[in-house]
Amino acid sequence: MLDKTKTNKEIGEKIYNHLKQIKVQTPYTKNNEPDKIRLIEAHFKSIMEIIGLDLTDDSLNETPKRVAKMFVDELFWGLEPENFPKITVVENKMQYDEMVIEKDIKVASCCEHHFIPIVGRAHIAYIPNKKVLGLSKLNRIVEYFSRRPQIQERLGQQIFHTLCNLLDTNNVAVVIEAEHFCVKLRGVEDINSTTITSKLGGKFIEEPELRAEFMGLIK
Ligand SMILES: [Zn+2]
Repeated sequence: MLDKTKTNKEIGEKIYNHLKQIKVQTPYTKNNEPDKIRLIEAHFKSIMEIIGLDLTDDSLNETPKRVAKMFVDELFWGLEPENFPKITVVENKMQYDEMVIEKDIKVASCCEHHFIPIVGRAHIAYIPNKKVLGLSKLNRIVEYFSRRPQIQERLGQQIFHTLCNLLDTNNVAVVIEAEHFCVKLRGVEDINSTTITSKLGGKFIEEPELRAEFMGLIK
């Protein structure tokens, strides 16, 4: 859930522009529509009626409003640069230069092709340069980019480039393993498949041993 007291508009806009410049930003145009929930509610009501649902039924009655609020407040708030999490990058005083790994970070997103859930885990590693990041901030960054219509490859790239930018290093690795419900419920209807994507930089590309160590540790 979005906590407006824990966001940072300035960093959000800086990261938004950076990702746009390197062409990994989500195709998104800020529209300043003040009444998103009410508009989505009206359109979703039409969709339900076209399907043939009886909106006078007390179980369905509130669904358009519920869906609209869910879209705006819960699933897609990560589109807005101003909702970027408040991140404090601290100086690496201990001069720690080994790999920092956080694994099994929850990924709960929504496929931009079908608007059906993507659920999985992200594993992130970096080697600190002059800056380090609180571990919970990695979770916050993953959450932020997950809360928008997504494709898994771009989600990984957005997390990767954001960390490279904030930490001022290319020595970053992001692996995502996720289940796509649009693959399970429709199309090939493959109930058991998992999609794994990775985005590696710097030493994680140049040094096979480091990469192998990281891949071993996240197994
Ligand atoms: Zn899909």
